[in-house]
Amino acid sequence: MIVGAMNNPHKNLVEQIYFLGELNFEFFELTIEYPAATPKKIIENKKRIADALESYNLGLLAHLPWYFNLAHPYERIQQATNKEIEAAAHIATTLGAKILTIHPDLTLPQSCQARKKRFERTLSTLKSIEKITKNFGLKLCLETVDEEALEIKEYKEILEQTDIKITLDAGHAHTYFSAGVVGLIEEFKKDIAHVHLHDGKKQIDHLPLGVGTLDMKKFVEKLKEVYNQTITLEVHCSDPHYLAYSKDILEIYWYGKEQFEENKKYIYLIEEEEEEEEGRNTEK
Ligand SMILES: [Zn+2]
Repeated sequence: MIVGAMNNPHKNLVEQIYFLGELNFEFFELTIEYPAATPKKIIENKKRIADALESYNLGLLAHLPWYFNLAHPYERIQQATNKEIEAAAHIATTLGAKILTIHPDLTLPQSCQARKKRFERTLSTLKSIEKITKNFGLKLCLETVDEEALEIKEYKEILEQTDIKITLDAGHAHTYFSAGVVGLIEEFKKDIAHVHLHDGKKQIDHLPLGVGTLDMKKFVEKLKEVYNQTITLEVHCSDPHYLAYSKDILEIYWYGKEQFEENKKYIYLIEEEEEEEEGRNTEK
């Protein structure tokens, strides 16, 4: 299991990469998003971003804006959005990402177009975007958001008709799906290619782990049966201690307290070795 975190698109991107590197995250999920992380701004700062990622040996995953249309009834508007997605996919692959997460369409109420029509348009757009992302060598993952956006059977229809995989958002699954997070893991177990994790209660999500009502023990036990890859902590709060605390909580549940402490020693051991090396270098 590898733990990462995501940038806040309203804050300086390079500073956040250094900040998350200091917290010992193992990868960075880059949301390519207005205002501070648009494709244009990322291109302008590409070298600094790549240097920051490399200096902490951070892997990279990519994420699209959550509010992009996938089912807009005006064809030219949808085509323009697809162009923006293509620009983001290009940037993602240039920086070395292999996975790009996309959200289902959340923007238009059903009074604008019937659910059936919206689903047909979503499927058609996803097929076009999948062609683009395949050309860039990116795996496209559709995030679990809520049943209003897409129901489980609609996700399954998309998975059947494409090579798209699932980004299981555990916080959303817990808060907004009647099947709950354990139910969603069971439904999508063969297709989960990435996980987002945050706590939630009632209609509030993106909370630090332990603050909401997500049963971490049950969640980790179930997820470990089928998945052992990247997990992004999507804890939205300004105090970084909550993010560091959430990382500890996840690792304690995943590895057990004893192994968690052992793993920490490993991090410090590397630092001690580096210090010894530096000492030897100055002696020469
Ligand atoms: Zn998410």
